[in-house]
Amino acid sequence: MLSPDPTDDHRICVCVRKRPLNEQETLVKDLDIITVPTRNVVMVHESKQKVDLTRYLEHHTFRFDHAFDDTASNEFVYRFTAQPLVENIFHKGMATCFAYGQTGSGKTHTMGGDLFGRSQNCSKGIYALVAEDVFLMLKKPTYEKLDLKVYGTFFEIYGGKVYDLLNWKTKLRVLEDAKQQIQVLGLQEQEVCCVEDVLNLIELGSSYRTSGQTSVNAHSSRSHAVFQIILKRKGKLHGKFSLIDLAGNERGADTCRTSRQRQLEGAEINKSLLALKECIRALGQNKPHTPFRASKLTQVLRDSFIGKNACTCMIATISPGLSSCENTLNTLRNVLNMRSS
Ligand code: ADP
Ligand code: MG
Repeated sequence: MLSPDPTDDHRICVCVRKRPLNEQETLVKDLDIITVPTRNVVMVHESKQKVDLTRYLEHHTFRFDHAFDDTASNEFVYRFTAQPLVENIFHKGMATCFAYGQTGSGKTHTMGGDLFGRSQNCSKGIYALVAEDVFLMLKKPTYEKLDLKVYGTFFEIYGGKVYDLLNWKTKLRVLEDAKQQIQVLGLQEQEVCCVEDVLNLIELGSSYRTSGQTSVNAHSSRSHAVFQIILKRKGKLHGKFSLIDLAGNERGADTCRTSRQRQLEGAEINKSLLALKECIRALGQNKPHTPFRASKLTQVLRDSFIGKNACTCMIATISPGLSSCENTLNTLRNVLNMRSS
């Protein structure tokens, strides 16, 4: 088994995870066109059957910080992505981990796991795995004496609006004060004392998430879900881990036959994902101006991105099928772009 390289010191780590072909894809004999030849390379093998050959080369090779094939478990992915960031929040730092990709590519599976990691033989997601490590670390003597308290928040950004998933999906206002501090007014911060408490929050919040019907996937999530684990010391913010299950990044073409509402959703999602990409790029290049205000998503995550001790991890999830080729290439190109720092 591979172990994380201790010399890896990326402020921004970009990884890709391929999921297995699902039953439906197997049934219609969709082809698996993705290979992961080494621990950080993803290859897309476009079929020769494709009509419009002029637009792409036949093989596309992409290099990332890590690449996971369809045999990687959530635990394995976690070890190379979010886990190395956990310690940061004990050192007055900020950590952020995104799942980015087309609807149905495995974002929620990666973040939430199956049944939120509660039953015995299901897989735990990154939310639960981070929570476990946070409570383990709290018991270490160095951290125990800090007397830290742990809180959870869970909210959704849909159509540029923020809704509290721990409080009946109440719509919340976002304010920016004179010092450019962002506040989500009235957001529930619930104290959690053990992993089980965290799982309860995740289960509650997930049951409120917005989903809509698209031609891509009947239960597609058209919202960004933000789950945060916050450490406080004497009532003051000490560190924060934000885990974000982003809305599907598929292009408009996939939803053009659906309602106007879906089209507007799509436009809003594109806008926010573009803003996210721009912010991550700007941060990676240490540019003085980062366009946080361009979307609600980047605005509310602003404090997690800035500051001396902030680190970000992006997990791009991809579907293996030829039928998803265009979206897969789009995902890979977009996240590759974030990395070019
Ligand atoms: P998304 O949240 O990106 O729309 P989901 O996480 O809901 O996608 O995944 C779609 C389906 O594929 C789910 O049934 C999920 O359980 C399954 N799936 C996703 N990733 C994997 C994986 N790595 N291994 C096994 N099944 C997966
Ligand atoms: Mg999902």
